[in-house]
Amino acid sequence: MPPALAESTLERNNSRTEDSDRTFVALSSSAPIIRSELWLSDGNIVLEAENTQFRFYRGLLARHSTFFRNMFDVMFPPSNGPLVHAEDIVLVEECPVVCLADAAEDVSYMLYFLVEARSFDLVPSIANLRSAMCMGHKYTIPSLWNDAVQRLRYEFPSRLEDYQDSRNYDDNTRFHLADGETLHDLVELVQEMNIQSVQPALFCHVVSSCSLDSLANDASSPLSLENRVMLLTGRARLKDAALRDQYQSRTGRSSHCTRPECAEGHTRLQASLLCRVAFISVVIPGFEEWTDRDTRLYGRELCDECVLQVQLLTEETQRKTWDRLPSLFGLPNWEDLGDPTVVASR
Ligand SMILES: [Zn+2]
Repeated sequence: MPPALAESTLERNNSRTEDSDRTFVALSSSAPIIRSELWLSDGNIVLEAENTQFRFYRGLLARHSTFFRNMFDVMFPPSNGPLVHAEDIVLVEECPVVCLADAAEDVSYMLYFLVEARSFDLVPSIANLRSAMCMGHKYTIPSLWNDAVQRLRYEFPSRLEDYQDSRNYDDNTRFHLADGETLHDLVELVQEMNIQSVQPALFCHVVSSCSLDSLANDASSPLSLENRVMLLTGRARLKDAALRDQYQSRTGRSSHCTRPECAEGHTRLQASLLCRVAFISVVIPGFEEWTDRDTRLYGRELCDECVLQVQLLTEETQRKTWDRLPSLFGLPNWEDLGDPTVVASR
């Protein structure tokens, strides 16, 4: 081992102090180095980001990441010895240190994902999803990128039937909102990462669950001015579509109807539906799946034939509105909404 390396290692080892969770390594003329809890005792590489070090497996990184594989191929060629000058390599516990220009939390999320992929039961926050996408893209790790994108596609799908399924649950299940996070953060993230396929359903969910004030005036929202305008425009269009395209056409007497009272029943239902949509302050997109409960409710006013007719009209108008949903937010048609992919090269 060259003297320079030995001294460097010695300096770090001698000045280490330990507390219960982390080990701090004091370096002269620099911020204290924090040792992450992700410090694998048989690891063979140390990654350093900001002032945090992670001891990890070189082979595992190389297996998942084209970027790291190429980098390690240069740093540690199999037969000819290191190509980089040995004196340029700092060692910690005999592991070479690689400094990354990333946030420590991004590196942490990436490494935990790789080492605990099978038992990874953490439901990521929006900040975690951002880490996954940034690192998955930057270091060419398809599994990391795809995991984040698939979580979003599950919550905000491009098929109406999947959207109805996902809305049957109150809470998001594939990610969570950490303290201080809102779906406005997610709007910014999917725009930044250009994840287009989830945008119509996400935007629809945001404008129908946020008040007009929070979209327009909330100073704490991270929404850019451009996205505020896009969402407010989409909100107005969606409300208009709910009025004209859905509720007006959701009642109609069946041609098989023989019950005179149904005519009056349809009029009453139409009036109440229009009032509900027109006078409520929120937007009701009307994509809820038709259920037995709807059949019973409409059955109070209508005969079975007319209830079936209303169900068919409702499902038809839901389909039409869903098909138009991207255009309400200024997006291309569903079939033209693509997502970037991260592909490992060999
Ligand atoms: Zn009828």
